[in-house]
Amino acid sequence: MKVQFLGAHNCESATTRLVSILVDDILALDAGGLTSSLPIESQLDLKAVLLTHYHYDHIRDIPALGMNALFYETSVSVYATQAVRDALASHWLNGIIYVNFLEKPPESPRIQFTVIEPNRAFTVAGYKILPVPVSHSAPTVGYQVTAPDGKTLFYTGDTGPGLAGAWPFTSPQLLITEVTAPNRFEEFGRRMLHLTPSLLKEELLAFQKQKGYLPQVVLVHMNPRQEKEIDAEVKQLSSELGTSITLAYEGMVIQL
Ligand SMILES: [Zn+2]
Ligand SMILES: [Zn+2]
Repeated sequence: MKVQFLGAHNCESATTRLVSILVDDILALDAGGLTSSLPIESQLDLKAVLLTHYHYDHIRDIPALGMNALFYETSVSVYATQAVRDALASHWLNGIIYVNFLEKPPESPRIQFTVIEPNRAFTVAGYKILPVPVSHSAPTVGYQVTAPDGKTLFYTGDTGPGLAGAWPFTSPQLLITEVTAPNRFEEFGRRMLHLTPSLLKEELLAFQKQKGYLPQVVLVHMNPRQEKEIDAEVKQLSSELGTSITLAYEGMVIQL
């Protein structure tokens, strides 16, 4: 399984993109930095875009994907919960801000949206996908993705403390989760439902207790301004727990 980090941050600039992860060149997890990272040919190769929740930094490229699909006379398959579909339809693809690609053209909408249910597995292009609810300020599901050869990752999307509720349903070799801010923002993390390295530590210890192992961990959604501080704290956590925990960066590729 090839895992490519197209966007790894929570703020966009010339050197950072919003969160998007590409699996084996055909599955996209979140759409914060897809269209700005991928040539048109690669966009057309996507079999599915899986969205964790409706916050802007995770759905940003959905309208642009719809417009590219229109010009290349194709469609893009998007999977997410009803809450995400409702948010896109009412606030964004509403015929005012942008074209309603969810319904247009009526004979073949450019965005083929499949509503998924938390905890109900489905299959896309031979990959088994399990949406697992996590704790965030909008309804959010993480995705466990299992390739045809059995390699498995779990991407939580944005999450606050409380992942222990998700661990029974997932056994990944690679855990992709978020650390938004350094430890001095722990109170902010608890309130806004994001993780710091100290909050991540509690979640990983719960994982280890439940599952008897720790997976490789890669972090996304860092605030670029605080990244050095986060990185130092994560290095310390990694050596403390004895497992690989690293910050993702734009262009990073992991072969599972
Ligand atoms: Zn969010
Ligand atoms: Zn976010």
